[in-house]
Amino acid sequence: MKILVLNCGSSSIKYQLLDMENESLLAKGLLERIGLPDSILTHQATGQDKYRQVMPVKDHTEGVKQVLHILFDAERGVISDAKEIAAVGHRVVHAGEEFSGSVLITPQVKAALQRCVSLAPLHNPPNLLGIEAAEQALPGTPQVGVFDTAFHQTMPQHVYLYALPYELYEKYGIRRYGFHGTSHRYVAQRAAEMLGKPLPDLKLITCHLGNGCSITAVAEGKSFDTSMGMTPLEGLVMGTRSGDVDPAVLPWVMREEGLDTDQIDNLINKKSGLLGVSGISNDMREVEEAASAGHKRARLAYDMFIYRLRKYIGAYAAAMGGVDALVFTAGIGENSASVRSAACSGLGFLGVAIDEEKNRSQEREKDIALPEAKVRVLVIPTNEELVIARDTAEIVQQNQ
Ligand code: ADP
Repeated sequence: MKILVLNCGSSSIKYQLLDMENESLLAKGLLERIGLPDSILTHQATGQDKYRQVMPVKDHTEGVKQVLHILFDAERGVISDAKEIAAVGHRVVHAGEEFSGSVLITPQVKAALQRCVSLAPLHNPPNLLGIEAAEQALPGTPQVGVFDTAFHQTMPQHVYLYALPYELYEKYGIRRYGFHGTSHRYVAQRAAEMLGKPLPDLKLITCHLGNGCSITAVAEGKSFDTSMGMTPLEGLVMGTRSGDVDPAVLPWVMREEGLDTDQIDNLINKKSGLLGVSGISNDMREVEEAASAGHKRARLAYDMFIYRLRKYIGAYAAAMGGVDALVFTAGIGENSASVRSAACSGLGFLGVAIDEEKNRSQEREKDIALPEAKVRVLVIPTNEELVIARDTAEIVQQNQ
C-alpha cells in the first residue's frame, strides 16, 4: 500500500511517498514559493539524485498537481498511475478539541477544521487548501487528517486551562492545546521499544528541539502536560519565538513602542528567542559557534535556552512524580551533543547521568545514559511523516 503524505504551508508543499509494505520511502520533495512566478520544486526519488525545477505554480491546487506529475514522471517518478496511491495523509496543525486522533476526512471533518481556523489562522487555511487540492487531483482516494494537537488531548483540565476567566474558555476555547504531537507520540513509542517496556508503564519527558521547541510529559502512554499552549509560542526559548514571558509585558511594550496587535504578535513570534537575544541568528549552530567564540549575547541566548529547558524537565519530573527516560529529538535535539550535555548537567539529583563519549558518537539513535544511571537518556530521530503514513494506512484499512 502506497501512501502520499502532504504537509501544506502557506506557500509550500512538503511531500513523501511511502510504501507501507516495508515502510520504505519511495520519494520526497518540497515545492516552495507557491504563488510566485519562480516556484521551486525539489524532488528526490530514493536512490536517485536530487532534481530541481523552477516554474510558476499559482496555488495549492496546481501545486498538488505538480507533485503528482513528478511522482508519475517516466524518468524521475516512482509510480505510473494515480491508482497506485492508496490514500493521502495530511498533516494538519490545529484540531482544537474536535479530534483526539487521526480521522478520515469527510465534509464534517473539514467543517470542524474550518472552525479551528481562528485558533491557527496561519496554519489551518493552507492545510485545508491542501486537502481540497488533493481531493480534486485524486478523486475517490481516501484522505486522512493527522493533527499536531491530537496527542495532547489527553491532558487533564487542571493542566490545560489558563487561570483566566472561565468564560473565555467556554466562549472561545482559550486553553493550552500543545503542538508537535505527532513527533512526541512517535518518539515516546520508539523509546518504549528501545527500552523493551510497555509505553503505559513509563514516565517519559520528550524534548522536541527544532526551530520550534516543545517538551512533553508522557505518563501512562499519554500526554499529561506540554509546554506549547493555545498557539505554538508558549514554553521553551525557540529560534525566533520568546516562549514564556510575563503576559503583562506585552501591553506594556505595545503602549511604550506604539505597536498594534500584529506588530506585537510579530515581535514575539519572529523577532524573539535565540535571534532576539543573541542579535545574530535563530539557528542554534550559529548561536553555539558565536557563543564558543566569545560573543556575549550569543552565550546569553544559549544559556537561556538551556536554563528554560532544564527548568521544564524538572517541572515535568515533579508533575509526574518521577521520570524513567528523557528523549531528545528534532534538529537541535538530534544533532547538538553540547545542548544535550548542558541540559542534563545538574539533573544528577533526578538520576540523570550521561556518557559523554556516547553522547558525541555518530550513532543517530542511541541511549546516552551511563549504564548505572537511574534515568535513561535517549536520542531518537523523529519521523512525523512515517506516523502520518501509518495512521493513514490503518484508517484506510479499517474503512475498507
Ligand atoms: P523544524 O522545526 O523547522 O523542522 P529542525 O527540526 O530541522 O527544524 O531543526 C532546526 C534547528 O536544528 C536549527 O536551529 C538548527 O540550527 C538546529 N541544528 C541542526 N543541526 C545542528 C547541529 N549539528 N548542532 C546544533 N544545532 C543543529
